[in-house]
Amino acid sequence: MAATYWGLSTVAGAGESRQVTLRQEAGLRAALALYSEQADRAQAQVERVARSRPLQRALERRDRGALRRILSGKPSFYVVGARGLRVGAAPRLAARLPVDVVAGARRLGEVVATIPLSTTLVERLRRDAVLDSGDVLVLLEGAQIAASSPSLHGHVPVAVGRSATVRLAGTQYRAFVAPALPGTPTARLAVLTRKASVDAADARARDRLLVGLLACLALVGVVAYLQGRSIVRNLRRFATAARGIARGSLGERVPVRGRDEFAALGDALNDMATQLEARLAELEAERARAREALARFGEALAATHDAKQLLRVVAAAAVEATSARAGRITSADGAVVVTGDADADGERLVLPLIASGERFGTLELVGDSFGKEERMNAASLVAHAVVALENARLHGMVERQALVDGLTGLANRRAASDALHAEAARAQRLETPLSVVLADLDGFKDVNDVHGHAVGDEVLRVFADVLRETLRESDVAGRWGGEEFLLLLPGADEEGASQLADRVRIALAHRAIASAPGLRVTASFGVAEYAGQSNTEQLVDAADSALYRAKRAGRDRVERAVPAAL
Ligand code: GH3
Ligand code: MG
Ligand code: MG
Repeated sequence: MAATYWGLSTVAGAGESRQVTLRQEAGLRAALALYSEQADRAQAQVERVARSRPLQRALERRDRGALRRILSGKPSFYVVGARGLRVGAAPRLAARLPVDVVAGARRLGEVVATIPLSTTLVERLRRDAVLDSGDVLVLLEGAQIAASSPSLHGHVPVAVGRSATVRLAGTQYRAFVAPALPGTPTARLAVLTRKASVDAADARARDRLLVGLLACLALVGVVAYLQGRSIVRNLRRFATAARGIARGSLGERVPVRGRDEFAALGDALNDMATQLEARLAELEAERARAREALARFGEALAATHDAKQLLRVVAAAAVEATSARAGRITSADGAVVVTGDADADGERLVLPLIASGERFGTLELVGDSFGKEERMNAASLVAHAVVALENARLHGMVERQALVDGLTGLANRRAASDALHAEAARAQRLETPLSVVLADLDGFKDVNDVHGHAVGDEVLRVFADVLRETLRESDVAGRWGGEEFLLLLPGADEEGASQLADRVRIALAHRAIASAPGLRVTASFGVAEYAGQSNTEQLVDAADSALYRAKRAGRDRVERAVPAAL
């Protein structure tokens, strides 16, 4: 605004100044035209006089009286003849318009018309040219004021056709000077205007400009204030909506009006809220799904101690919890459990299944991509899974311990008894033979007494090894108690069973005991065949009776049950 004011006020000042100059020029032109009219009239008159015969004759005769008479009605004329003849007077400061007086080819002299350059002339010109009331018309002789209206004295040293400031009697004027008047060498007209009035007009123009600019400024201020208020109102609306969304009320929306940047911002905000709402719903659904999957997973883990079944559940749950496409578990014993196409392309997530140093295998998931949450889900799932796998392992161990004799690795009495019942039932159902053999180590008390309990234990293990080596896959060997063993031989009759018992007897007799070189151990055997009509206790009793007979007969031998014992 300041720059605009400075620029415009400069232009306005120049315009005002130019206006004054134009007015001065116009006044001067009018005054000069009036003067020229007067000069033309005088010229025409003097030419008429110069051509008149009486004047020519009077000049020829140098008749001063006649000349004076001729000029008597024309006080501004004078005549100049040969040899210093001069009739009539001329004012000191005047324009001269001379015309030669010629008779035939001879020049007799001249008649001169004068226009007095007086205050009267200046006053008349000023009045007839209708100058501005404040303007001064001056007649300059050189730079000196010769006459003026109103009256002024001093010098106006200004070049022709130029406008300049001069100081006269303590007052500053803007002066404009015209070219020399016709009929004079140096006399010129000039118009002077008080500089104070020019400056006042200039100041008025500047004031108007200033008021205009201030009004503009005020208008801009009002518009800026209104715009600002509208912007602040919009921003407040957006802030309220954004705070609402941040607090969780995702249903919050801002009203969108028009097509400006605020409308675009409002649209974007509403769009964001909608997207957030949708994402949150998705997330909630996803969470619910994960929760459900985990719950089912937990139930499945708790329900079984079957390791293979557990691996299948883990693979399926891991695929579901991580939104994977496929999963594969390679267990430590080389078994593979697969869900989906585990060889497909995609990102792979590999997690080892390890708990308390036990490695159960490796879980491998295949999916589009696994984010932080999916990785965390998979890790937590694996943590649960390995606990279940460890439980299953321990459970299996306990189960085995309940059925297996710890020292020899053979079936314990309970397992052997169960097997006896099962085999007896099967034999009865299928009508196949079944024989039992009861074996007892000979003089075992002495072995313990002579070589110590550790060697006794080793002898028990060696006998178990001999049994394992000699018996068929379908046969069952169990530790019946102390140094007594029960052999179940499905499909074998008494004869076959006796032969097998004898093979065992011979193998044991040849077997060396590592911790007691030179020690040779023998065993006695009682054989009985199951005949279907009696219960299993009676069968074992029959074998026991046969064993007793073997002991009595001198040990290290096989005896068959006598039919009467059955
Ligand atoms: P026989 O020839 O008449 O069978 O004589 P024996 O010494 O073998 O007979 P007996 O049944 O009196 O002795 C059995 C011994 O076996 C008694 C017990 O000390 C021993 N024994 C039983 N169970 C174990 C065991 O688990 N380890 C050891 N080292 N000895 C056992
Ligand atoms: Mg015994
Ligand atoms: Mg014994």
